Amino acid sequence: MPEMNTKAMYKLSYGLFVCTAVDGEKKNGCIINTAIQVASEPNRISVAVNKANFTHDMIKKTGACNISVISREASFDLFKRFGFQSGRDVNKFDGFAPSSFDTAENGIPFITEGTNAYFSLKVESEVDLGSHTLFICEPTFMTVLSDAPSCTYEFYQSDIKPRPEKVGVTPAGETIWRCRICGYEYVGEDLPDDFICPICKHGKVDFEKITR
Ligand code: FE
Repeated sequence: MPEMNTKAMYKLSYGLFVCTAVDGEKKNGCIINTAIQVASEPNRISVAVNKANFTHDMIKKTGACNISVISREASFDLFKRFGFQSGRDVNKFDGFAPSSFDTAENGIPFITEGTNAYFSLKVESEVDLGSHTLFICEPTFMTVLSDAPSCTYEFYQSDIKPRPEKVGVTPAGETIWRCRICGYEYVGEDLPDDFICPICKHGKVDFEKITR
Protein backbone atom coordinates (compact mmCIF):
# COMPACT_ATOMS: atom_id res chain seq x y z
CA MET A 1 0.00 0.00 0.00
CA PRO A 2 1.38 3.46 -0.86
CA GLU A 3 1.93 5.78 2.07
CA MET A 4 -0.17 8.90 2.60
CA ASN A 5 1.63 11.87 0.99
CA THR A 6 -0.03 15.26 1.27
CA LYS A 7 2.16 16.58 -1.58
CA ALA A 8 -0.51 14.99 -3.77
CA MET A 9 -2.33 18.32 -3.25
CA TYR A 10 0.29 20.00 -5.43
CA LYS A 11 -0.52 17.65 -8.31
CA LEU A 12 -3.97 19.18 -8.76
CA SER A 13 -3.94 21.68 -11.63
CA TYR A 14 -5.38 25.17 -11.34
CA GLY A 15 -5.77 28.34 -13.33
CA LEU A 16 -5.24 31.78 -11.84
CA PHE A 17 -7.74 34.60 -11.87
CA VAL A 18 -8.32 38.13 -10.64
CA CYS A 19 -11.68 38.15 -8.89
CA THR A 20 -13.04 41.70 -8.68
CA ALA A 21 -16.03 43.19 -6.88
CA VAL A 22 -17.57 46.60 -6.22
CA ASP A 23 -19.52 47.76 -3.18
CA GLY A 24 -20.63 51.38 -3.46
CA GLU A 25 -17.51 53.46 -4.08
CA LYS A 26 -15.18 50.61 -3.13
CA LYS A 27 -13.48 48.68 -5.94
CA ASN A 28 -11.45 45.66 -4.96
CA GLY A 29 -10.08 42.36 -6.21
CA CYS A 30 -8.02 39.36 -5.20
CA ILE A 31 -6.17 36.47 -6.82
CA ILE A 32 -7.92 33.11 -6.78
CA ASN A 33 -7.12 29.72 -8.32
CA THR A 34 -10.61 28.32 -8.00
CA ALA A 35 -12.81 29.44 -10.89
CA ILE A 36 -14.30 26.37 -12.55
CA GLN A 37 -17.14 25.64 -14.94
CA VAL A 38 -19.20 23.18 -12.90
CA ALA A 39 -22.25 22.75 -15.16
CA SER A 40 -23.13 23.39 -18.79
CA GLU A 41 -26.95 23.29 -18.90
CA PRO A 42 -27.39 25.83 -17.47
CA ASN A 43 -23.85 27.20 -17.62
CA ARG A 44 -22.57 27.61 -14.06
CA ILE A 45 -19.19 28.76 -12.80
CA SER A 46 -18.10 28.28 -9.22
CA VAL A 47 -15.55 30.41 -7.42
CA ALA A 48 -14.22 29.65 -3.94
CA VAL A 49 -12.96 32.72 -2.09
CA ASN A 50 -11.07 32.74 1.20
CA LYS A 51 -13.12 34.43 3.92
CA ALA A 52 -10.02 36.38 4.97
CA ASN A 53 -10.17 38.29 1.67
CA PHE A 54 -12.07 41.57 1.73
CA THR A 55 -13.32 40.71 -1.77
CA HIS A 56 -15.12 37.75 -0.17
CA ASP A 57 -17.26 40.02 1.99
CA MET A 58 -18.01 42.27 -0.97
CA ILE A 59 -19.23 39.36 -3.13
CA LYS A 60 -21.33 38.02 -0.27
CA LYS A 61 -22.94 41.43 0.16
CA THR A 62 -23.46 42.37 -3.49
CA GLY A 63 -23.95 38.93 -5.07
CA ALA A 64 -21.74 39.76 -8.04
CA CYS A 65 -18.14 39.62 -9.21
CA ASN A 66 -16.00 39.49 -12.32
CA ILE A 67 -13.36 36.90 -13.07
CA SER A 68 -10.41 37.91 -15.28
CA VAL A 69 -8.43 34.92 -16.52
CA ILE A 70 -4.70 35.54 -16.01
CA SER A 71 -2.51 34.73 -19.04
CA ARG A 72 1.12 33.75 -19.33
CA GLU A 73 1.88 37.36 -20.25
CA ALA A 74 0.98 38.62 -16.77
CA SER A 75 3.71 40.32 -14.75
CA PHE A 76 4.59 39.47 -11.17
CA ASP A 77 3.35 42.98 -10.34
CA LEU A 78 -0.22 41.91 -11.11
CA PHE A 79 0.06 39.16 -8.49
CA LYS A 80 1.61 41.55 -5.98
CA ARG A 81 -1.08 44.20 -6.55
CA PHE A 82 -4.06 41.87 -6.12
CA GLY A 83 -2.55 39.04 -4.09
CA PHE A 84 -0.03 40.40 -1.62
CA GLN A 85 -2.02 43.18 0.03
CA SER A 86 -5.49 43.55 1.49
CA GLY A 87 -8.27 45.74 0.18
CA ARG A 88 -9.02 46.49 3.85
CA ASP A 89 -5.77 48.49 4.01
CA VAL A 90 -5.28 49.85 0.52
CA ASN A 91 -7.10 50.74 -2.66
CA LYS A 92 -5.67 48.12 -5.02
CA PHE A 93 -6.59 50.26 -8.02
CA ASP A 94 -4.47 53.18 -6.80
CA GLY A 95 -1.63 53.67 -9.27
CA PHE A 96 -2.95 50.92 -11.53
CA ALA A 97 -2.52 52.15 -15.13
CA PRO A 98 -5.90 53.04 -16.69
CA SER A 99 -4.87 50.90 -19.68
CA SER A 100 -4.65 47.84 -17.38
CA PHE A 101 -8.36 47.55 -16.61
CA ASP A 102 -11.80 48.56 -17.77
CA THR A 103 -15.30 48.56 -16.32
CA ALA A 104 -17.79 45.87 -17.36
CA GLU A 105 -21.48 46.40 -17.95
CA ASN A 106 -22.20 45.26 -14.38
CA GLY A 107 -20.11 48.17 -13.06
CA ILE A 108 -17.31 45.90 -11.86
CA PRO A 109 -13.76 46.29 -13.19
CA PHE A 110 -12.05 43.59 -15.20
CA ILE A 111 -8.34 43.35 -15.93
CA THR A 112 -7.23 43.89 -19.53
CA GLU A 113 -3.44 43.51 -19.19
CA GLY A 114 -1.94 40.05 -18.60
CA THR A 115 -5.35 38.41 -19.01
CA ASN A 116 -7.05 36.56 -21.88
CA ALA A 117 -10.76 36.55 -20.98
CA TYR A 118 -13.25 37.78 -18.45
CA PHE A 119 -16.60 36.72 -17.04
CA SER A 120 -19.28 38.71 -15.27
CA LEU A 121 -20.88 36.52 -12.61
CA LYS A 122 -24.10 36.71 -10.64
CA VAL A 123 -24.15 34.62 -7.46
CA GLU A 124 -26.93 32.06 -7.50
CA SER A 125 -26.12 30.11 -4.34
CA GLU A 126 -23.32 29.77 -1.86
CA VAL A 127 -21.87 27.02 0.30
CA ASP A 128 -19.98 27.65 3.54
CA LEU A 129 -16.80 25.57 3.34
CA GLY A 130 -15.06 26.77 6.50
CA SER A 131 -12.01 28.70 5.30
CA HIS A 132 -13.74 29.57 2.01
CA THR A 133 -17.19 30.30 0.66
CA LEU A 134 -18.07 28.54 -2.59
CA PHE A 135 -20.11 30.88 -4.78
CA ILE A 136 -22.02 29.14 -7.55
CA CYS A 137 -22.66 31.70 -10.24
CA GLU A 138 -24.47 32.36 -13.45
CA PRO A 139 -22.26 34.01 -16.07
CA THR A 140 -24.12 37.07 -17.36
CA PHE A 141 -21.37 38.06 -19.80
CA MET A 142 -18.07 36.68 -21.05
CA THR A 143 -15.56 37.58 -23.73
CA VAL A 144 -12.05 36.79 -24.96
CA LEU A 145 -9.39 39.50 -24.53
CA SER A 146 -6.25 37.86 -25.94
CA ASP A 147 -4.91 34.72 -27.59
CA ALA A 148 -2.15 34.32 -24.98
CA PRO A 149 -2.37 30.95 -23.19
CA SER A 150 -3.85 30.89 -19.70
CA CYS A 151 -1.49 30.98 -16.74
CA THR A 152 -1.68 27.85 -14.64
CA TYR A 153 -0.62 27.76 -11.01
CA GLU A 154 2.31 25.59 -12.12
CA PHE A 155 3.44 28.23 -14.66
CA TYR A 156 3.23 30.91 -11.96
CA GLN A 157 5.47 28.78 -9.74
CA SER A 158 8.02 28.02 -12.48
CA ASP A 159 8.09 31.17 -14.63
CA ILE A 160 6.48 34.19 -12.96
CA LYS A 161 7.37 34.01 -9.28
CA PRO A 162 10.90 35.38 -8.70
CA ARG A 163 13.51 32.93 -7.47
CA PRO A 164 13.42 32.69 -3.67
CA GLU A 165 15.48 35.33 -1.94
CA LYS A 166 18.15 33.78 0.20
CA VAL A 167 18.00 34.74 3.86
CA GLY A 168 21.80 34.77 3.98
CA VAL A 169 24.08 31.98 5.02
CA THR A 170 22.57 29.58 7.52
CA PRO A 171 24.44 26.84 9.35
CA ALA A 172 24.33 23.49 7.61
CA GLY A 173 21.26 21.49 8.52
CA GLU A 174 19.22 24.47 9.67
CA THR A 175 15.52 24.27 9.02
CA ILE A 176 13.92 26.84 6.78
CA TRP A 177 10.26 27.28 5.94
CA ARG A 178 9.79 28.72 2.46
CA CYS A 179 6.60 30.38 1.33
CA ARG A 180 5.47 28.67 -1.87
CA ILE A 181 3.54 31.75 -2.93
CA CYS A 182 6.21 34.46 -2.77
CA GLY A 183 9.48 32.76 -1.76
CA TYR A 184 9.80 34.36 1.70
CA GLU A 185 11.94 32.26 4.04
CA TYR A 186 11.50 31.77 7.77
CA VAL A 187 14.44 30.31 9.69
CA GLY A 188 13.59 28.05 12.61
CA GLU A 189 12.64 24.51 13.45
CA ASP A 190 8.99 25.24 14.10
CA LEU A 191 6.76 27.59 12.16
CA PRO A 192 3.93 28.75 14.44
CA ASP A 193 0.48 27.52 13.37
CA ASP A 194 -0.84 31.08 13.17
CA PHE A 195 2.13 32.36 11.15
CA ILE A 196 1.18 34.75 8.35
CA CYS A 197 3.69 35.46 5.57
CA PRO A 198 4.78 39.11 5.94
CA ILE A 199 5.08 39.48 2.14
CA CYS A 200 2.04 37.77 0.64
CA LYS A 201 -0.13 37.21 3.76
CA HIS A 202 -0.59 33.48 3.17
CA GLY A 203 -0.68 31.11 6.13
CA LYS A 204 1.39 28.17 7.32
CA VAL A 205 -0.31 25.79 4.92
CA ASP A 206 1.53 27.47 2.03
CA PHE A 207 4.98 27.02 3.56
CA GLU A 208 7.25 24.07 2.76
CA LYS A 209 9.93 22.84 5.11
CA ILE A 210 13.43 22.68 3.66
CA THR A 211 16.83 22.01 5.15
CA ARG A 212 20.19 23.37 4.07
FE1 FE B 1 4.57 34.59 1.08
